[in-house]
Amino acid sequence: MKELVVISGKGGTGKTSIVAAFAALTRDAVIADCDVDAADLHLILEPNIKQTYDFSGGKLASVDTKKCIGCGQCENVCNFGAPAFNGPANETVEKTYTIDPIACEGCGVCVEFCPVDAIKFEDTVNGQWFVSESRFGPFIHARLGIAEENSGKLVTLIRKQAKIIAKNKNKNLIIVDGSPGIGCPVIASISGADMVLVVTEPTISGRHDLNRVVELTNHFKIPTAVCINKYDINTKIAEDIEKETKEKKLKFLGKIPYDIAITKAQIKAKSIIEYSDNHLTKQIISLWKKITKFLNAKAQKNDTD
Ligand code: SF4
Ligand code: SF4
Repeated sequence: MKELVVISGKGGTGKTSIVAAFAALTRDAVIADCDVDAADLHLILEPNIKQTYDFSGGKLASVDTKKCIGCGQCENVCNFGAPAFNGPANETVEKTYTIDPIACEGCGVCVEFCPVDAIKFEDTVNGQWFVSESRFGPFIHARLGIAEENSGKLVTLIRKQAKIIAKNKNKNLIIVDGSPGIGCPVIASISGADMVLVVTEPTISGRHDLNRVVELTNHFKIPTAVCINKYDINTKIAEDIEKETKEKKLKFLGKIPYDIAITKAQIKAKSIIEYSDNHLTKQIISLWKKITKFLNAKAQKNDTD
């Protein structure tokens, strides 16, 4: 089983449209949306959700105000200012403590220090993840609550589930729409992958972001390829990126032109492969052929090693 992860230095480079195009071309892969902070692959894939699960990224403290004796120990030990002396009276005291769930970082220290075990420490539900069927194959995706954290943990969970489903359904390929940037979610997206495709765009920030992302993939020793999306919005920077990519001995897989058809396809909830048959789709097909060639060669090498 091989896993291709498509990432970008930042959001908005067209990464998701490219993943949808690959999924449409192969129709024989498990697809995973690990861009959990801005998940939008489902808008193109229009999945039929088969199973829904809660995702818990951590724990939160809360006070049982019936038990609280108002001693203030929780406030003393909390580094995040979450406990507040604003709770209702109970049989023992006229005022109790509560904990602000937004301020609580879930460290659990107050739980240890409460003398009367009045603080509950429970899993929080930060979002949901889904096992779905799409017209291109099995699709694993998630919805994280607004401003929720621990998306790296959710990314790891999605990739793990994608592997389980690939194994159960006898699929040899997983295509992952990875998280953008260089933070924890992208590290969770790429670690242990067979190949990373970095989608970049020819802008100064795109070039800078590409370099940072490549440092990351080099660190994890993951075979990395680069393609430039919308290369014709600045052909000079596109040429520079191509040159630098080759100098770094990364695989340069090609350049995709800007085409309004991508946006039109998205509006119609279609991949570009389904929507049009033009120079752009030929470029993407060529890109996909190069990727499958690399992954097949890697699979053969693993078999012979
Ligand atoms: S769990 Fe940690 S952050 Fe939350 S209230 Fe207790 S001490 Fe503060
Ligand atoms: S440490 Fe426990 S008993 Fe003391 S104020 Fe906090 S919740 Fe109440």
